[in-house]
Amino acid sequence: MPSSRLFATLNFDLSAYTGSDLTIRSPRDGQLLATLKAHTTAQAETALADAQTAFLAWREVPAPVRGELVRLLGEVLREHRQALGELVTQEAGKILSEGLGEVQEMIDICDFAVGLSRQLHGLTIASERPGHRMMETWHPLGVCGVITAFNFPVAVWAWNAALALICGNSVVWKPSEKTPVVALAVQALFAKAVERFSAQRPNVVPAKLCQILIGHANIGEVMSRSPLVPLVSATGSVRMGRKVATVVAERLGRSLLELGGNNAMIVAPSADLSLALRAITFSAVGTAGQRCTSLRRLFVHSSIHDQVVAQIKRIYASVKVGDPLAADTLVGPLIDKAAFDAMQSALQQARGQGGEVTGGERVDVLGDGVYVRPALVCMPGQTAIMHHETFAPILYVVKYDDLADAIALNNAVPQGLSSAIFTNDVREAETFVSAVGSDCGLANVNIGTSGAEIGGAFGGEKETGGGRESGSDAWKNYMRRATNTINYSKTLPLAQGVKFDI
Ligand code: NAD
Repeated sequence: MPSSRLFATLNFDLSAYTGSDLTIRSPRDGQLLATLKAHTTAQAETALADAQTAFLAWREVPAPVRGELVRLLGEVLREHRQALGELVTQEAGKILSEGLGEVQEMIDICDFAVGLSRQLHGLTIASERPGHRMMETWHPLGVCGVITAFNFPVAVWAWNAALALICGNSVVWKPSEKTPVVALAVQALFAKAVERFSAQRPNVVPAKLCQILIGHANIGEVMSRSPLVPLVSATGSVRMGRKVATVVAERLGRSLLELGGNNAMIVAPSADLSLALRAITFSAVGTAGQRCTSLRRLFVHSSIHDQVVAQIKRIYASVKVGDPLAADTLVGPLIDKAAFDAMQSALQQARGQGGEVTGGERVDVLGDGVYVRPALVCMPGQTAIMHHETFAPILYVVKYDDLADAIALNNAVPQGLSSAIFTNDVREAETFVSAVGSDCGLANVNIGTSGAEIGGAFGGEKETGGGRESGSDAWKNYMRRATNTINYSKTLPLAQGVKFDI
């Protein structure tokens, strides 16, 4: 098997998981990576009960000590970055530089979480009553269920797990059924970090602190339904998010949703076009258009439209579509044939709506891998197909004349994840990021829509689900807030001056 060398480097043995429920093939060439058994729903329920037991112990460990475990996880990930990054490439198909980047993102969030483990600050609030103090405290929440998508098969777990762990929670992970192998490798690396930690501090990390459940949607549904899971963090399609949100809301649980995007960029007349073209290319064709932040809609000022389109066509014709492990490849394979079919169907609809399509055809690269040349589609306006996220490298281009119209087009779709403007006009830039500008969770100036850093809160509005993960104060999602009022006086004054003498 192509990945046995990687398994050896990661000191990782898949045999305990071998079965016949899931057949995992590399999108690179269609070769078999593994056949795995899935967990049953009964096993999933047991795992959640075990996670609850682990939580009860872990919440009592001081946060900076919890941070030490995450520090060691970061250390182990650093040591295995190359092999893990290659395994991401083998199983998810993204080019090696992006596979390594995904592992780097895991390391970055571990570093961030370690610092945070000493900064889970609450507030002290002025009380209206004499001899009273009010404060806000943050406490561990419970079992965090994490459901992840195929396109970031490991980083999204790390965004959630690193924060959830330092916040004092246990974690149960349901990776995508398309990418369980690299998830199991991460689980093995986590076990290594626990081993290192326990060599210094025995009996601190409870058993089953972080678990993994392999399987299809039914396993995610067990998490969504379970009252043992106060927070379900789910990353994937809008269709999935609607189901998870509904089931979790039914029991009044908390869901943190990171769903589809339909991201746009505006290229204004003053834009630095050499920067804009690089940003357009990386955002639109990087990861073969399979990022939630991939650029899908481009609004170009009519004064530069033809020039920009001609240049994108030239770049698209030369961009290397190929083996994601080869150093000069920029566009790797689609995840599977269904993604190719969805892309062709979208292109067909775009043609029917007046679009002129360049590219989009299948390219023969390796074995059964499904490779495509990125498609550029000049549209007469923002038609119906542009309101949908097609998870493939299709870039629709529309002309605009007035910035307000371009911003309205940016905001006119149901999704609200990422957006960008290229301009050197400070008024345009500031308008775009202002209250009357982009309605997305991410609004960038002179950089593309994809490639967020972990320091900021990541997520989007509207159908993207409203969740925020990763940096800033996203940690608050993984804790419960208590407001404490402490009376150190010898009287009992009531708030709002209410009298109640007995
Ligand atoms: P998907 O929705 O098919 O699957 C995602 C995960 O949800 C999988 O683990 C799947 O098993 C699980 N799932 C599906 N139905 C479920 C249900 N009813 N209950 C519980 N779990 C269920 O998505 P995908 O094809 O793997 O990923 C692509 C999508 O993910 C795109 O729409 C992309 O934009 C989105 N995505 C969003 C972000 C973000 O941060 N906003 C990041 C990555 C991917």
